[in-house]
Amino acid sequence: MSKDYVIGIDLGGTKIYTAVVDLEGNIISEETVATNAAEGEQAVLNRILGTVETVLKNVDISNVKAIGIGSPGPLDVKNGIIVNSANLPFKNFNIVQPLKEKYKLPTFLDNDANVATLGEFMFGAGKGTENMVFVTASTGIGGGAVLNGKLYRGNTANALEIGHMTVMVDGPRCGCGNAGCAEALGSGTAIMKRGRDAASSNANTTLKNYSEVTSKEVFEEAAKGDRVSKEIVNTALSYLGIAVANIVNIFDPEKVVVGGGVTNAGQIVFDKIQEEVDNRCLKAISENCVIEKAVLGGKAGVLGAAALAIMEIK
Ligand code: ADP
Ligand code: ZN
Repeated sequence: MSKDYVIGIDLGGTKIYTAVVDLEGNIISEETVATNAAEGEQAVLNRILGTVETVLKNVDISNVKAIGIGSPGPLDVKNGIIVNSANLPFKNFNIVQPLKEKYKLPTFLDNDANVATLGEFMFGAGKGTENMVFVTASTGIGGGAVLNGKLYRGNTANALEIGHMTVMVDGPRCGCGNAGCAEALGSGTAIMKRGRDAASSNANTTLKNYSEVTSKEVFEEAAKGDRVSKEIVNTALSYLGIAVANIVNIFDPEKVVVGGGVTNAGQIVFDKIQEEVDNRCLKAISENCVIEKAVLGGKAGVLGAAALAIMEIK
C-alpha cells in the first residue's frame, strides 16, 4: 500500500527547515539550511527549492499530496504572497507560485503562529481537541486558535495577535505603537529589559553579577531567591497570565497550549498562568480548560507547515 506524504517548509529569518512528513506527523526526510536573507529574493528562493529537492530524493513524488509553508508575516495568505517581513528578503513576493509550478502540487502559505497552532493541534499537545488556543511566549508573544476543529484566521489572517492585547492602561510602549501590550510586559524581551534596567540601577540584585542579562538569568536568579528578579518574573508572568485569562474567557477552549522560549523556565510559567486564569475567568469556563506545555519545540514550524498542507487538502 502506498503511503501519502506532504512537504512542510518552515521559512525563518535564520534558517529554512524542510521535511517530508506522513499524515501522522512522522518526519520521513528533512533538511535545514541557513536562510542568508542578505543574499536576496532569488537566492533564498533557490535555497528553498534546493531543500525540497533534497528531501524528495528518496521519496516517490507521486505519494506527495501537497506543500505547506510557514513564514513570518505580514502575508497575503489567499494569494500566497509574503508582503514584507523584517528578517526575510521577500517584498510582495509570491512564494507559492514557483513551488506550485515546479511540483504541480497544491501549495499553501500561512504565518508561523498559525502553522505552529495547527502543528500542536494535529500532532502535539492539542491532539484530540476541537477548541484549542496556542500561545507562544518568546521574543514576542503570539498565538493562534482552532475553533470547532478549524483554524480561525480572521479577516486578514492576523487573528489571535495575543501579544498586542492591552493589559495595562498607559503601560510601556510596544513595538506596534500601542502602550501596555502583553508583549511589552510579559515576553522574554520584556523580562530581559527589566532585568537589564535593574542590573544597571542602584537596586540590590544578583543580576549585577552577569555581564549580559537575558530572561533566562532573571528566572535563574529569581529561583535562587533574588528579590528583584522575583518581582520581575512574577510581574511579567502575571501579565502573560492576564492575556491568557482574557483569551480563555473569549474562546472557551478545552485547552491552551503554551510554547516559546520563556516556557523553558519551567513549571513556574504554567503555575502563574493557571493562577491568573483561576482568579479571573468565569468558573464554568476555566474549570473545563487545561493549560498545557507545547510539545513540538523546534519542529513546530515544519510539522505545522505539514499540518497546514494536510488540513487544506482534507
Ligand atoms: P524566537 O522568539 O526567536 O522564536 P525562542 O522561542 O527561543 O525564540 O524564544 C527566545 C526567548 O525566550 C528569549 O527572550 C529568551 O531569553 C527566552 N528564553 C530562552 N530560554 C529561556 C529560559 N530557560 N528561561 C527563560 N527565558 C528563556
Ligand atoms: Zn503591541
